[in-house]
Amino acid sequence: MIIRFDHWINGQSTPSHGRERLTTRSPADASPAADIALGTAEDVADAVHAASAAADAWRRQKPIERGRVLMRLAAMIQSHADELAALESAETGKPAWQAPMEIAGAAGYFEFYGGLVNALHGETIDLGPGHHCFTRREPFGIVGVITPWNAPLNQASRAVAPALAAGNVVVLKPSEFTSTTSLRLAELATEAGMPDGVLNVVTGDGTAGRALVENSGVRKLVFTGSVRAGRDIGHVAADRIIPLTLELGGKSANIVFGDADMDRAVTGALNAFSLNTGQICSAGTRLLVERAVHDQFVDRLVDACQTLTSSGRLGPLTTGAQYDKVLEYFKIARDDGATAALGGEPFSATRRGAGFFVPPTIYTGVDNSMRIAREEIFGPVLAVIPFDTEDEAVQIANDSDFGLASGVWTSDISRALRMADRLEAGQVYVNTWLAAAIETPFGGYKQSGYGREKGAEALHHYTQVKTVTVEL
Ligand code: NAD
Repeated sequence: MIIRFDHWINGQSTPSHGRERLTTRSPADASPAADIALGTAEDVADAVHAASAAADAWRRQKPIERGRVLMRLAAMIQSHADELAALESAETGKPAWQAPMEIAGAAGYFEFYGGLVNALHGETIDLGPGHHCFTRREPFGIVGVITPWNAPLNQASRAVAPALAAGNVVVLKPSEFTSTTSLRLAELATEAGMPDGVLNVVTGDGTAGRALVENSGVRKLVFTGSVRAGRDIGHVAADRIIPLTLELGGKSANIVFGDADMDRAVTGALNAFSLNTGQICSAGTRLLVERAVHDQFVDRLVDACQTLTSSGRLGPLTTGAQYDKVLEYFKIARDDGATAALGGEPFSATRRGAGFFVPPTIYTGVDNSMRIAREEIFGPVLAVIPFDTEDEAVQIANDSDFGLASGVWTSDISRALRMADRLEAGQVYVNTWLAAAIETPFGGYKQSGYGREKGAEALHHYTQVKTVTVEL
């Protein structure tokens, strides 16, 4: 059954000023999932107005009281986990085993920041006798959050929870392909006792996103998505001189040395490029393997991947555009001379009608200058590149426009730490991949973005420091 949603503004479902609506569809079988409003600049203005009216009271609540509301919201997410997982799967195509983990992660953000809010404090600065000086960490006011479609509720919660904990109010614009769990989040927040206007959701496409970015009431922006849109938003933020957190794409290098535990490295390499059907910004899509073990490693990885599709672990791609893009890269890889050790062809001409499924694909014979090694594909497509020395591995890994994550598989701790020092990436995983705890700061180097989300670090990105100096 198709569910109809309007915006969530000022604690209630609110029809759009515009007439246009959008039907989201299941990427697995194209069945309709939800009917959402295509938001306008007026809708965004209403949401900003509601947020503005709520801002002062929310900010002046005791932090512990704000924290309690967030904790109650965490509990509400947990008690609605089945419903939220079903909505998330319907719109993204996430397999049934995966969606519940992301919903639990979303609840975790509200739990974590609900508890952490009491630890947010300034410092005193000793200016000698005659002065008393201290700093305060103050919220910005209205934070505009724009999210993509690959992990909708998790990504929304990653930004909304610390923003609210720090005393800001939020207008959230989720992806036009996956809006329902963000809308339900705001509804649940109201049920959990969050005051009206503190969390508002306006649905729609890039037009609504752009209106949010340009709205003069918004004092801080958080964007997760493509480099293209991130750059556009960066220009507007620069013109308006407001702070921006950018979480963009990646082409992360996963580096396997010959002395690694091969069983663990094969499983790690497989998960790194195929989890969420490769639609993860920090996917390990460049696999650098020491030449001495290259052929043996590729054989084992290909074997391990054979059952991915039939076991139901690999869902479809989320959008038709993404499906077309992955198929285009199959052609680019062929034209550039890479060898498909696995996959590399669409399942069949008829398969698209049955959903946006693509086979896990592993390319060998890849040079780091090829497009499949340089450009983010956002599908289960792996480029394998051999190397001979540690220096060469570092050089290839860092020869990228991106710098989100990197992995090192080795049994030599000194080498692991040398590599961690030299790799240009916001995350370095040693003998693991995507060790994505809520407590750990997350963000990119280079074109993967700037600012940090998650961990205690994120609270600092949602506050500005005021210094108070008193002459006694
Ligand atoms: P996208 O940039 O097209 O869209 C993301 C969001 O921005 C959507 O809500 C969209 O409506 C909105 N938007 C689009 N253009 C806009 C504009 N000009 N102004 C304001 N808002 C605009 O990205 P996508 O296709 O939805 O997501 C895939 C991309 O996101 C990939 O490149 C991926 O790497 C990246 N991503 C990064 C992270 C991270 O944490 N670093 C996480 C997930 C996805």
